[in-house]
Amino acid sequence: MRLLVVEDDKDLNRQIVTALENAGYAVDKAFDGEEGLYLGETEPYDAVILDLGLPKVDGVAVLQGWRRAGKTMPVLILTARDRWSDKVSGFDAGADDYVVKPFHIEELLARVRALLRRAAGHATSELICGPVRLDTRASRVVVDGNPVKLTSHEYRLLAYLMHHQGRVVSRTELVEHLYDQDFDRDSNTIEVFVGRLRKKLGVEVIETVRGLGYIAAAPAKV
Ligand code: CA
Repeated sequence: MRLLVVEDDKDLNRQIVTALENAGYAVDKAFDGEEGLYLGETEPYDAVILDLGLPKVDGVAVLQGWRRAGKTMPVLILTARDRWSDKVSGFDAGADDYVVKPFHIEELLARVRALLRRAAGHATSELICGPVRLDTRASRVVVDGNPVKLTSHEYRLLAYLMHHQGRVVSRTELVEHLYDQDFDRDSNTIEVFVGRLRKKLGVEVIETVRGLGYIAAAPAKV
C-alpha cells in the first residue's frame, strides 16, 4: 500500500511518515498544497493524509482538485481542534475521515487501516486467504496458525494482493503501489519477491496469471 502525506509542519510530516513506514507502507510526502495536488493527481495512492492549512494551495482546494480530476482514493484530513467548520468543508470537498490535531499517532494509523480496508471492501483488520491470515494491525502473517517472518517488502506485497484478493493485479500496479517515488523501481524485482514470498508461505495462495500478473486466492479444497 502506498500513501501520500501532505503536511507543511516538517516535524509532524516526518513523524507521520516514519510511523506509516514502520507500519509497512510505502510513503511519499509533500510540504505544500501545490506539490500535494500534483502528486495526488499523477501518482496512484491507496490513501492520502491531508492537512487543511497548507501554503500555496489550501487543503480543501487540493481535495476539490483531486476529486474534479476523478481521483477516488480515500482521503483523511487533519484539522485544528477548534475549527469544526473545517471538518464540514473537508467532508463536502470529498474527505473520507478526519483526525483533530493534536492526535495520537496510533489513532491515525487505525483510521488509515480502516480507510484502506473499506476501500478494498473488507470489514475487519484481519485478512484471510485460505490458510493465510494477515493481521493489518500488527503487520503479522500466520499460515495454518504458524507465524511467518516476512521482510517489509514481502509483507507489503502480500498485504496488497490480499486486500485485492480474487482480482488479477498486474506487475505495473504492484510496482506503483509498493514503492515510494524515491525508490529505484524495477518490475523484475516483483517476480523475485513473489518467489520468496511463496517459499516462505509454503502454501499456494499466489497464482501467476500469465501475461497479466498475480492473483491471491484460497487454494481449492481437495
Ligand atoms: Ca498546516
